[in-house]
Amino acid sequence: MRYDQARWTEDEDRYEPLLAEKRSTEVAIDSTDSALPADLTRESLTLPELSEPELSRHYTRLSEMNYGIENGPFPLGSCTMKYNPSFTEDIAALPTGSVHPDRSEESVQGTLELLYRLQDYLGRIGGMDAVTLQPPAGAAGEFTGILVAKAYHETNGNDRTEVVVPDSAHGTNFASAALAGYDVVSLPGGDDGRVDLDALTAAVGEDTAALMLTNPNTLGLFERDITEIADIVHDAGGLLYYDGANLNALLGRARPGDMGFDVMHYNVHKTFATPHGGGGPGAGPVGVVEELAEFLPEPRVRPTEDGDGFELFSPERSIGRVHGYHGNWLVLLKAYAYIARLGDAGLTDASAKAVLNANYLASQIEYDIPFGPFHHEFVASATSDAADVAKRMLDYGVHPPTTKWPETVDQALMAEPTEIETRRTLDALAEAFNAVAAEDESTIETAPQRTAARRIDQADAARNPRLSWQALAENADEQ
Ligand SMILES: *Cc1c(COP(=O)(O)O)cnc(C)c1O
Repeated sequence: MRYDQARWTEDEDRYEPLLAEKRSTEVAIDSTDSALPADLTRESLTLPELSEPELSRHYTRLSEMNYGIENGPFPLGSCTMKYNPSFTEDIAALPTGSVHPDRSEESVQGTLELLYRLQDYLGRIGGMDAVTLQPPAGAAGEFTGILVAKAYHETNGNDRTEVVVPDSAHGTNFASAALAGYDVVSLPGGDDGRVDLDALTAAVGEDTAALMLTNPNTLGLFERDITEIADIVHDAGGLLYYDGANLNALLGRARPGDMGFDVMHYNVHKTFATPHGGGGPGAGPVGVVEELAEFLPEPRVRPTEDGDGFELFSPERSIGRVHGYHGNWLVLLKAYAYIARLGDAGLTDASAKAVLNANYLASQIEYDIPFGPFHHEFVASATSDAADVAKRMLDYGVHPPTTKWPETVDQALMAEPTEIETRRTLDALAEAFNAVAAEDESTIETAPQRTAARRIDQADAARNPRLSWQALAENADEQ
């Protein structure tokens, strides 16, 4: 597979210069009558002088320095990076998309109806009785859901102190429970990668406020004992929380509510539409069973009593607001458009393809895969350092899978092709996986070679980001 990104550095092939370096003109500036202090004026300015095609190609080249779903497959397990059809963007760009959130309820009845219908769709998809659209991400949904669970327990005079989380869970589960003031009890997984019922029985008790569970779990495995798990948690007086990040595996086939879950979040940017990455924007609506509905954040939407319209309301014992106004409205709008367009049959088809694609890809790659069969994702074990393998995959023009998580698998590569990829793309992806597996350590360790940025100090990049060209140039001088 040919792949070569543009380069920042002058002495390299495929170097993409700055606009001004391509061709520029010195323009004289007459500052005689300027009101600015003399040391802030200048006599001339260098401006790029380029044709429109040159300009457009320059920016296209720059855009290729980043890898996105429009460049190729993006099998980032658990994150569910899928192509989001542009019709949802078109809908979000309609004038109705930019309605001011402070407008009176009477003047935005269409918006409220749409939000109400989305609450209803999500409730039906998850098997939940009531839904809030407020939380702006999955993690925010978790925190909201756990606060709702806490309010429920406290109202029942039940001061529970612990939340149980499987050790394969997403880091945000531990963080959400801790942030809500709970002690986190980590639950070791069983030999088959699923919840071990004996370990669970030992972990839950009168202090258990909730068990947070992802199903299928982060190994892509369905928790077959889910009804027993629900019984164990409920018998101890705890609630069952569903992390909805993997809901795309179950769409139209099984519902968390029917499995015994009491509260859940939906990652609408993973399961439905809205591109995500870089921390957002997303939405993490929360659904609950009837008993918890009165604690949901405000405002929610409901039909008016006379049935003629829609209104905002605050649930009786609401935990309050978790976001401004109605949540991330445009993200919600896109999720609505996606669900409405696909319909029941389309959503059911999406989960079938997500599962089929994951199992097909797993069957084509020559890595050790400790568990299976899978739902929407699988976890392989690399023989080299998983991070090195990931870097090398970039040279083949494919985005690497999620690495080193869950920690329960040695050198984990967690791959989720999603429902969008064709067999041709999956074969090309498998080829990249297998090509890297056959390479020697020195090639893998020095990858990537074909990307704009090579190996960077990731911690330093996050802590001391250098965001301007000047800073980059200064840095090069220092070195
Ligand atoms: C992505 C993810 C989350 C967090 O969701 P965000 O929307 O990214 O905040 C939680 N749990 C799992 C399993 C996830 O994959």
